[in-house]
Amino acid sequence: MIRSIREIDIANKKVFIRCDFNVPLDEFLNITDDRRIRSAIQTIRYCLDNGCSIVVASHLGRPLGVFEKKYSLEPVFKRLTRILNCKVKFANDVIGTDAKNKVSSLQAGEVLVLENLRFEKGEVENSKKFAKELANFVDIYINDAFGVCHRAHASVEAITQYFNKTTSAAGFLLQKEVEFSRNLLKSPARPFVAVVGGSKVSGKLKALVNLLPRIDKLIIGGGMAFTFLKAQGYDVGNSLVEDNLIQEALKVIEEAKKQGVKFYLPVDVVAAQTCSQDSEVKFVTTQEIPKGWMGLDIGPATSRMFREVLHDAQTILWNGPMGVFEIEKFAKGSHKISHAISEAYGTTVIGGGDTADVVARAGDADDMTFISTGGGASLELLEGKELPGVKPLNNKEK
Ligand code: AMP
Repeated sequence: MIRSIREIDIANKKVFIRCDFNVPLDEFLNITDDRRIRSAIQTIRYCLDNGCSIVVASHLGRPLGVFEKKYSLEPVFKRLTRILNCKVKFANDVIGTDAKNKVSSLQAGEVLVLENLRFEKGEVENSKKFAKELANFVDIYINDAFGVCHRAHASVEAITQYFNKTTSAAGFLLQKEVEFSRNLLKSPARPFVAVVGGSKVSGKLKALVNLLPRIDKLIIGGGMAFTFLKAQGYDVGNSLVEDNLIQEALKVIEEAKKQGVKFYLPVDVVAAQTCSQDSEVKFVTTQEIPKGWMGLDIGPATSRMFREVLHDAQTILWNGPMGVFEIEKFAKGSHKISHAISEAYGTTVIGGGDTADVVARAGDADDMTFISTGGGASLELLEGKELPGVKPLNNKEK
């Protein structure tokens, strides 16, 4: 079990919260989606209510160890100030003089936002020296940044060695993410259906292999379906195929059969010659994709079939869109599957940023049981991996 912030004594202490404030910004550096900031509020408020002074830190984008205006956390600081009803300060460095001065004068009930952690090279290098500087700021370490827990970075992993089980824990967001994934894989209500899509088999092969013994049905859509279809001898035209993974795809199909997992691939697609909104499209069966055309979404027959497959599900896990949902013409299949999943009476779990995006665009977000915020991290949990950011926060299993 992951150690929750509720299990440790944080009253009146100085607390470091590693958040995931990696929000999208437009060209004017306006935040276009502040969900990640709002979802950190629960843990921050809990600390405020316990009389803590709080240092929050995050990365934003991928700066290369030096300051770059476009990656500054200042817009995040401003948004956080508006959301929280308390005194919020901003340090214009991470472990420099400004941060040090502001940390040392921080009062109970105040929040200090440090500048982007990745402005320091030590962050991605998992440097002990950098982690120690951060650790020296505070008494308590809280990780609430699920989206980066699969990365051994200084503020996620190295820093934990300067705290122990009474001074480090997971925030509410991280706790929920980890417990949801663990319970889902350990004791799902059946039938358990996994719906996997997205561009490539390569990114999701390990997750597929780990899921097979746990699920009752596997639905494959999106670009990755074509490697499976080609493996079965179909001519898929110019559709996305990873030829080097055809043998692996066959193994997954065989393994599914062996384990009694019902395996479903698209029976028709929305095909086009180019991937654009202006392209002419055809609805064709997977046997009849014309030469030079490619499948960019699941077709109407497949949507209906997948809906049928999902109808008795008690647990559904969805990771990866059914088509190129970013383009309206190829978004319908993903939207239809989103609707079908949202109508299920069982537990519905959505993983990955793109899939969360589809669900939001389809207007189904409120009807899902749980939407995971971290793409890479949630995939690695599905692969059965122990995340470097989570491992040090685990209590011993009873
Ligand atoms: P992933 O990051 O692997 O989950 O893939 C998500 C991406 O897969 C999205 O950007 C989709 O546009 C893309 N995608 C989904 N279906 C297809 C397809 N049939 N052909 C090409 N790309 C696809």
